[in-house]
This record gives sequence, C-alpha cells and structure tokens, in this order.
Amino acid sequence: MSARILQGSEFREQIYAELRAEIESLRSAGIIPGLAAVLVGENPASKIYVRNKIAACEQLGLYSDNISPPASIRTEELLAEIEQLNARDNIDGILVQTPLPSHIDTKRILEGVSPQKDVDGFHPTNLGNLVTGRPGFVACTPAGVMEILRRSGTQLEGARAVVMGRSDIVGKPMALLLMHGNATVTICHSKTRNLPAVVREADIVVAAMGRAGMVTGEYIRPGATVIDVGMNQVTDAAEAERLFARFPARLEVFRRNGSILVGDVHPDVVEVAGALTPVPGGVGLLTIAMLMCNTVRAARLRRGGESRASRMGAPSEAARR
Ligand code: NDP
Repeated sequence: MSARILQGSEFREQIYAELRAEIESLRSAGIIPGLAAVLVGENPASKIYVRNKIAACEQLGLYSDNISPPASIRTEELLAEIEQLNARDNIDGILVQTPLPSHIDTKRILEGVSPQKDVDGFHPTNLGNLVTGRPGFVACTPAGVMEILRRSGTQLEGARAVVMGRSDIVGKPMALLLMHGNATVTICHSKTRNLPAVVREADIVVAAMGRAGMVTGEYIRPGATVIDVGMNQVTDAAEAERLFARFPARLEVFRRNGSILVGDVHPDVVEVAGALTPVPGGVGLLTIAMLMCNTVRAARLRRGGESRASRMGAPSEAARR
C-alpha cells in the first residue's frame, strides 16, 4: 500500500482561485489589501519565509511593505514601529516574523499588534476567540491543515485525532480547530507516556514537534491520514541515510546540497498511512495561503464586511454553535 500524497500546491491553487475573485471585488471598490511584514535582524530562515510571503502578495496583487529593523532594536522601539503600522490605513495585516532576538520581549510585541490586523492569529484576543468559537483570526499553519483536511475529503466528525506538539502557534490552535470540527482530540507532548500507542489510536495524526523523521510506521494505524507540519533541516549524513535509505532521489538531494528539509514523519510512513502530506510541498504552502486569506479578510472586516472565501480555515458556523 502507498499513501495518497496530499500535495499542498493543489489545495493552494484552489484557494488562490477563490481568493482572486474576492481580491478583484475589493479592487473594484477601490480597496487593495495590504500586509506589513516585520523582519528583525538577519536570521537566514526568517528572511526566506518573509520573502516567500511578500512574493505571495505580489502574485495575488496585494500591497506589501517589508519593515526590517536591525537586530539591536529594543522592545520599546519595536513596539513604536508596530503602533505606526496599527495606525496606517494602507496596512490591513501585520506579521512579526519569529523568532525575535532574545533581548526582545516577544509576548509584548505580539500583544502590541492590533487584534484587527493580527493576521497571524497570535494575539491573545484571537486565541480567546478561537477557544470560545467566536470569529477571529486563526493561526495560519493550523488553519492551512484544516483546509487540507476539508479539501481532501477527510472525515472529521467522530474521527480520533492526535496532535503531537502543544505550542501556542501550532499544537494548541490545531487541537481546538479539530475539536470544533467534531473530532475527538488528544494532544501529545514531550511528557506523554507510550507515545506510539497513543498515536496509533488516531484516524488523523498531526505531527508538529520539530523532530526530524521521529514518527515511524509503528506510530501509525494503517490507513490513517498523516499531516506533517515539521520542518527540520538535516545536515548529518548518517541521519539522512537513516531517513532516506529507500529514497535514493532524496539522498541525492542531500549529497548535492549538504542538507535536506525533512518533516517530523519518517518517509517510510508512506507505506502505512492512507494519506500523507509531503515535506517540502505540503503544509508550508498552505500556511502562506492562509496568511493571504487572513489579510484579505482583514481588509474586508476593517471596512465593515465579511466574506466567505477569506474565512477559509476558520471554524465553521456549525462548529461555533
Ligand atoms: P515548538 O518547539 O514550539 O513546540 C514543539 C512541541 O513538540 C512541544 O509542545 C514539545 O513538547 C513537543 N515535542 C518535542 N519533542 C517531542 C517528543 N520527542 N515527543 C513528543 N512531543 C515532543 O515548535 P512549533 O510548534 O513552533 O513547531 C513545530 C514544528 O513545526 C517545527 O518543526 C517547525 O519548524 C514547524 N512549523 C512549520 C510550519 C509550516 O508552515 N509548515 C509553521 C510553524 C512551524 P513540550 O511542550 O513538552 O516541550
């Protein structure tokens, strides 16, 4: 058996097609949604993420602004920058790329973003909205996973779902969204006992730990849907051999580049799962797509409207009852 591969690009194109219609209708009303990306310092991975987000804005015809203060900026100064963005009329969404340098108080910065422009869904107001099933902005990665599940026809209601990881930006909102979708949800973390047996109960597994290839076939119930959120850069040759012993093409990529991007799910799981998202090319693409949805939605909401297309990833009306 070989799992159905849930290609992120396929779902992203569907979402962009729906979003383009929405952007066009805003444009004809004289509105161009705008996103500000705040990138502090020179973190190479963060630079790539921000570049991809700005490129998505350009592809869809959204306005974008890249604010790049030096790593030496102080919390108060960065808060002042955010305040300016909160007040700017041509900015509908603000994303602060994390991680921030260690001397900066990240929680204060994220709380400084106006909840109305919090397109990353990290503000406590939006997290509270998610907990209580109220409309608000949902964190992009878990919202993207929900779109993958919905668009691939995965049955949520009554399903057993296991989320591996309990971070504020992925694991916790993911578990809430699955619960709002009427799945029965278990959250696992580094202190969970007998992890493989717990995960094996699941019809739907979401792996979001940051542990390269940790989820092997023994964790997976045959036929389960496996969503791999993890993004890990492997640079160790022995590790690459362990992961890709049966995938010579991937090993070749490692040998050429000296590193390779790997999810939390071991590649051999393709033989056990019913459906599986690839890394790269899976959840990551949807994360950016949901950021675009949230930005368009923010533009609409600030002007007193709500839209169907840009509510993608958010809990459904039924789930909010
Ligand atoms: P965090 O480091 O904030 O959280 C990791 C979570 O995994 C913690 O809850 C931790 O448990 C748990 N965990 C770690 N090791 C184990 C283990 N051995 N067994 C069980 N649980 C474990 O990470 P994030 O949530 O920010 O990100 C998770 C992964 O997702 C990373 O690889 C990240 O790069 C990726 N990511 C991908 C995105 C995308 O767009 N595809 C977007 C965001 C993140 P505990 O709480 O007990 O410490």
